[in-house]
Amino acid sequence: MKTKSLTELSTETKDFTISNLNILGRSETCAVRQDGKLSFHSAPLSIGEVFNGTGHSMSPGLINSHTHVAMSLFRDISHSQSEMIENLFFPIESNIKKEWLAALSYPALVQALKTGTTTIVDHYYSSAFIGKAIDRLGMRGFIGETIADIGGAFPSKETWQKTVDQIEDWSLSSRVSPVVCPHASDTVSKELLSEMALFAKENCLTLHMHLSQTKGEYERTKSVHNMSPVQFASKCGALGPNSLAVHLVSATDSDIQIIKDSGTTVVSCPSSQIIYEKLAPIEKFLSAGISVVIGTDCSASNDSFDMISEAKTFSLLLKDRTGRLSADKVHEILFKNPSIPLQFNSDFHEDCDFVIWKSPIDVQPIANLKSNLIFSHNGYLAQHSSIDGNWVLINGEITKATEKDLMSEFETVFSQAKTSIQTQMRKKIW
Ligand SMILES: [Zn+2]
Repeated sequence: MKTKSLTELSTETKDFTISNLNILGRSETCAVRQDGKLSFHSAPLSIGEVFNGTGHSMSPGLINSHTHVAMSLFRDISHSQSEMIENLFFPIESNIKKEWLAALSYPALVQALKTGTTTIVDHYYSSAFIGKAIDRLGMRGFIGETIADIGGAFPSKETWQKTVDQIEDWSLSSRVSPVVCPHASDTVSKELLSEMALFAKENCLTLHMHLSQTKGEYERTKSVHNMSPVQFASKCGALGPNSLAVHLVSATDSDIQIIKDSGTTVVSCPSSQIIYEKLAPIEKFLSAGISVVIGTDCSASNDSFDMISEAKTFSLLLKDRTGRLSADKVHEILFKNPSIPLQFNSDFHEDCDFVIWKSPIDVQPIANLKSNLIFSHNGYLAQHSSIDGNWVLINGEITKATEKDLMSEFETVFSQAKTSIQTQMRKKIW
């Protein structure tokens, strides 16, 4: 059987053998997919289409554990704004039309896909439109409707009831799953957060919320409830092994103990936190034994959705805080830790989503792929990605839509949005 170059891989390639691969964390060098099941072997085999993987590496797909992909409107206009959430996000978001959201999501989703991310955990208003955009590109998503009844862009209790109906009558593909998303401790009432937490528990759904994301949120929650945001979330039943608590920038030592005791996973978004306010105490999370995962957050407070770049930033900051650099620890954070809160196996397994990376002379020699992937590669070396058994990235290009079409849809909506929002707000923003 003829051995092909990996550049000859196509969307029709189902059963395959790829030999001479550098496979993350494994000693085998041959990856085989037969009847939809992935396996690894030491001896070269010849099952299905046979490819030579020399000069390539393979990892599970990356998971971005916290984003708001539709917030592309905020790119470049938010840096160094004070109280960015209250002064910029909420006023603009209250003028965004839900039918714009799919097109507004494409810049983030395309960059994520082209840089090795296969799964997005997203939190936004009118989330069904974001789910449709994720679905269109063939990605995997855990999406939630942002719910807030005492603050935010659209304060409303009714949105939660509509969200419950949407979850119970789920219309998106099996690759896109619902999660429960209270906005934050200062925008959701005690009654509503308790109700949402109970619903998540009874339905075995992930709860994904901003928590202690700013000093302002900490102070507002303390003045209303006489509790820290973490104490408030705990009291409402919102913490636990299926919960993702995002940021914890203003968390105290006793808050960190509550997070640890509850088994909650913390999402660290280092670039976003630094641009917005300051880095969370990541060294304390890790020394307390808390499970940490990484997200990029949105284009308002992070200019990139490249998870390799974010993992490198996280690693350097951790070294700065602790004096230690551990590629093994960062790989646990990237590929193992998302499994528990998302109830989804994020590591290599027979049905896993995976990425084949180009490892050219630029990143040679590779003595340790775990280290090389984070410190020498960049996300755009992702060449081929498979999600749910389908090739969604081939030779660095998305396969489910053309970039030209997505760009045209985005530009049309961006132009409408600029005009409409500036007219409504009587203010020049872009
Ligand atoms: Zn966020």
